[in-house]
Amino acid sequence: MIPFKELAQTYGTPLYVYDFDAMRAQFESLKEAFRGRKSILAYAVKANSNLSVVKHFASLGSGADCVSIGEVRRALMAGVPKYRVIFSGVGKRDDEIREAIESDILYINLESEAELERVEMIAQELNTKARISIRVNPNIDPKTHPYISTGLHDNKFGVEITAAKRMYIRAKNSPYLDSVGIHFHIGSQLTELEPIYEAAVIVADLLRSLSAINIELKFFDIGGGLGVRYKEETTIEPYAYAQAVLAALKGIDVTVICEPGRFLTANAGYFLTKVLYEKQNGQKRFVVVDGAMNDLIRPSLYNAYHRIESLGNEGEASAVDVVGPVCESGDFLAKNYPLPPLEHNDLLVVHSAGAYGFGMGSNYNTRGRSAEVALENGVHRLIRRRESFDDLIALEREYL
Ligand SMILES: *Cc1c(COP(=O)(O)O)cnc(C)c1O
Repeated sequence: MIPFKELAQTYGTPLYVYDFDAMRAQFESLKEAFRGRKSILAYAVKANSNLSVVKHFASLGSGADCVSIGEVRRALMAGVPKYRVIFSGVGKRDDEIREAIESDILYINLESEAELERVEMIAQELNTKARISIRVNPNIDPKTHPYISTGLHDNKFGVEITAAKRMYIRAKNSPYLDSVGIHFHIGSQLTELEPIYEAAVIVADLLRSLSAINIELKFFDIGGGLGVRYKEETTIEPYAYAQAVLAALKGIDVTVICEPGRFLTANAGYFLTKVLYEKQNGQKRFVVVDGAMNDLIRPSLYNAYHRIESLGNEGEASAVDVVGPVCESGDFLAKNYPLPPLEHNDLLVVHSAGAYGFGMGSNYNTRGRSAEVALENGVHRLIRRRESFDDLIALEREYL
């Protein structure tokens, strides 16, 4: 049992709480599924980029999948060894590419032919060889929310098979590029195995045809995307997932790299918010809380469902919109959610908030971001203090 009331009292609200033991259990269940096979789990830092969270995964042997040089720095600072750090993303700047090469990380995932040229040019300037992998867009519909679908030609991510092949050939002929991997990532919150298997088969076939022309790659990077249960979704079992990938790879000797984000952190995180007011507009019931879309944007952005638990309230539940103080009608944590009558200072626990929660937060409406707390072996500790007004204006006041 997590002592939510004590945590809210100690640290105030709104508050993010992460169960580090639950994160470890998720990590180990996936690691176990790939046992007996050379594999690296590279935690997708964007899901929850708190340094203490990244350090926690690093201590379990995790690598890191990063989508900006800032995330690469976080990973290295948190103790992820450089030989397990990957740099992905469609729009890397020159300075980011340069720093990634100089940091000697495992590889850079390329997402276009134009990017390959930039990386080659920068590696030449540095008079070194850049390790690369190419993100293939297998044109598979992952059957998830369109905003988090990434493996269709309509999405901005990756390159077509034919372009990938051209790029590997070009890299082979370059003294400044070293192709070490192949990558795909078809989307997030995936709950069906079939599209992942189909994508793996397509990319494994490309691996075979590259091998036939003497381009041998060491790493088969299957991206992340494993879905979690927010409500009643049936999710993919780690073992079935691993078996599907390994089946696609039959006869090929490569290290499998998996980049889970949400799977490791979503259900290990809670967002605590306090009731400010109840109100009724005609027939419509609202509860106004101290947490808002700037803290947790998933409901507003994706219409995402989060389970909400009211602590210590009895009484008959009725449908209510749980809304924050931000001046947007899109500012809600839940709509038509059954909750009992609530009073000032009652505590609500928003579940499954450990991934794409704090990290997608903003300072909109000049609201400081929440504190973050870790819970491990029954002990809690602050891992990010609450932002103050001074923090919010620090970069502006000198121009006043
Ligand atoms: C976002 C992302 C991930 C992690 O996705 P999850 O759905 O959180 O597992 C992994 N790899 C890449 C390249 C990503 O962009």
